[in-house]
Amino acid sequence: MLLHVGAHSHIRKSAETRRGKKLQMNMETVNNVEPPLALLAELTHRCPLQCPYCSNPTHLSGASGELTTAEWQDVLTQASDIGALQVHFSGGEPTARQDLPNLVRHAVSVGLYTNLITSAVTLDQKRIDVLVEAGLDHVQISFQDVDDVNGDRIAGMAGAQKKKREVAAMVRRAGLPLTVNLVVHRQNLANLSAMLEMAVGLGAARIEVAHVQYYGWALANRDALLPSRDQLDRATEEVDAARARLAGAVVIDYVVPDYYARLPKACMGGWGRRFLTVTPRGLVLPCHAAESLPGFDFPSVRTGTLAEAWRASDVFNRFRGTDWMPAPCSGCDRRELDWGGCRCQAFALTGNAAATDPACGRSPDHALLDIAVQDARAEPRAFIYRRIGGVPA
Ligand code: SF4
Ligand code: SF4
Repeated sequence: MLLHVGAHSHIRKSAETRRGKKLQMNMETVNNVEPPLALLAELTHRCPLQCPYCSNPTHLSGASGELTTAEWQDVLTQASDIGALQVHFSGGEPTARQDLPNLVRHAVSVGLYTNLITSAVTLDQKRIDVLVEAGLDHVQISFQDVDDVNGDRIAGMAGAQKKKREVAAMVRRAGLPLTVNLVVHRQNLANLSAMLEMAVGLGAARIEVAHVQYYGWALANRDALLPSRDQLDRATEEVDAARARLAGAVVIDYVVPDYYARLPKACMGGWGRRFLTVTPRGLVLPCHAAESLPGFDFPSVRTGTLAEAWRASDVFNRFRGTDWMPAPCSGCDRRELDWGGCRCQAFALTGNAAATDPACGRSPDHALLDIAVQDARAEPRAFIYRRIGGVPA
C-alpha cells in the first residue's frame, strides 16, 4: 500500500452530500479535538505483490491475527460515529479479504464514502460487480511502470501490469470513477510521460504521481529508488506539461520526494488532525507508517474505542497541535501549515520522533538528506522485496 493524502476534496464533497444532517452533528469538536476526515482501514498485510517501496511495516502480520468481519464492521460504525466521512479500504491487498463486499456494504450503511485502494491483480469482472452492488464509490489502482517487463520486475510478480490494465478497463465499464496511482522513482522515471498517457487512456479522472517516500520498505531500498536532482526536475516539467494539456479533464496530484524539498509536507495533514489508521490486528495509528516509531503504546480497537483513541490517547495527543514542537518549529510562522513535517521521517533520520523533520531547510539535521542524495548517484543496489519475515539482516 502506498497512500498519499490531502488530495481527496472530491471525495469529501460526495461524502458530505451523502451524510447530510448527521455530518453537521458530528462536526462538533470534543475537548478541542476536531473529528477525523477519514479512516484508513488496513484490512490485511497479505499481498501478492512485493513492491520494494511498500509503506507497510517491515515486519508484516500474517492472516491469523486479523480483525474479524464483525470487528471491522464495529470499527466502521465507530468511525462514522466520531465524524469520519470516508473509508479507504487498503492493506496489503484488501481484496485478499473475502468479506470485503460485506465491509463495503456496512460502510455505506453507516454513511461512509468508500474508496478501494488496490493492486488490482486479484480482481475480475464478477468481483467488481459484487463490489458495485455493495455500494463501492471509487477505485484507486497503482501501476509500477508502463513497460510490462520493468513493471513486473518492480512489483515482483509476472503478468501484474497486464492484469492491472485489464482490471482498470473493467472498473470503468462498471461505471466506477478511477484514480491511477503512479509510484515513481529512479528505476521508472524515464517512462513517466508514457505512464501518464497510459493513465489517461485507461479513463482515470484523477492521476496521482507519487514519488516514493522513505520509510518502511522504501527506507531499506532508498539507494535503489531515490532519483537524482535531474530526474526529479525532468519529472516535474513533464507533470506540469501534462497538467496544462489535460486541464479540466483530468486532475493530476503530484507528490515530490522530501529529500529534495526545502520545506516539509504537512504529513497526514498534521498528526491526529484528519486521518486515523486501523491496522490488520486492530491497532489505531495516527498514520500508516507510525508503527515504525518505537516505544509507542498504540491503542487497540480490541481493548478500547476509536473515540478514546482519537480524542484521549497519549499517542494521538503527543504530536497534536503545536505545543510539543521544539525549536525552530516552535517559533516558525509555518508551524500551523506543515505541523513540523513527518514524525516517522524525523525518527528514521535522527532517531528522535520529536525532532523537526530533516526535510525542512531550517532543521539542524537537514544535511542528513544531502548524504542520501549523494548516495543516489551511485549504481542502484538490487531490490530488497517486501515479504513476510522482514528486511534481511
Ligand atoms: S506490496 Fe505493493 S501492492 Fe502490495 S501493499 Fe505494498 S505497495 Fe501495495
Ligand atoms: S521549522 Fe518546523 S514549522 Fe517551520 S517550516 Fe520547518 S518544519 Fe515547518
